[in-house]
Amino acid sequence: MFVDTHCHLDDPAFEDDLDAVITRARARGIAWILDPGTTVKTSERAIALAHQYDSLYAAVGIHPEDCADASTEDLDQIEALTRDEKVLAIGEIGLDYHWAENPPKAQQKQIFARQLEMAGALGLPVIVHDRDAHGDSVDLVKSDAFNPDTGGVFHCYSGSVETARILLDLGFYLGFDGPITFKNNKKSPEVVAFAPLDRLLIETDSPYMAPVPHRGKRNEPAFVADVAAKMAEIKHLPVEKIAEATTANAERLFHLKEGRS
Ligand SMILES: [Zn+2]
Repeated sequence: MFVDTHCHLDDPAFEDDLDAVITRARARGIAWILDPGTTVKTSERAIALAHQYDSLYAAVGIHPEDCADASTEDLDQIEALTRDEKVLAIGEIGLDYHWAENPPKAQQKQIFARQLEMAGALGLPVIVHDRDAHGDSVDLVKSDAFNPDTGGVFHCYSGSVETARILLDLGFYLGFDGPITFKNNKKSPEVVAFAPLDRLLIETDSPYMAPVPHRGKRNEPAFVADVAAKMAEIKHLPVEKIAEATTANAERLFHLKEGRS
């Protein structure tokens, strides 16, 4: 049994065949799936889908690439959406300095910090997107904006072992996706080897970044089993062990078994 803790089934790429995608995931042993929004709109869509499929859950948040015009009203709407019973976390939120045309760093930091504070106040874990912004991301989760009691995951982790150590000390989980299966990626497998088994999560980030042997195609939650297989190879463990550990980790982080108030 696997869990895909990060995929965007709200994406138009799944408009025509979502039933089949969910069926294939179930057939491959994916027990449940978490779909984080990236805007108010996609957060609402993720929640609507989560009410259509038992195995689907949602997170709500404003993604750094979509935060240019984010207003206080938008943040209030995100907060209101967390009242839905299928919302498990605030995300995806964070910093993305990869593209020059991304929103200004100061704006990204402000919206990220406000959503970290919101998560802390609501007692919800966070799903963090950090692309080429490791230093500032670490600074923010080390600041008062983040409440370590709520926990969180650095999704599609792409930083160094040194940064991983800091995040693990803060209680974070590290999520890994298709890129750990890519031949030219030496860095992420090193972090997978280093990180303790009880802090790892497997994700797809569908429809993006399909793992080998599906690289280049549309990604989907069923392929999280391929990410698990690669993780098993790196950790020198049977894939069943990876499945068991990452599922338990996901249930612990997102409080899935405790029920929600
Ligand atoms: Zn994502």
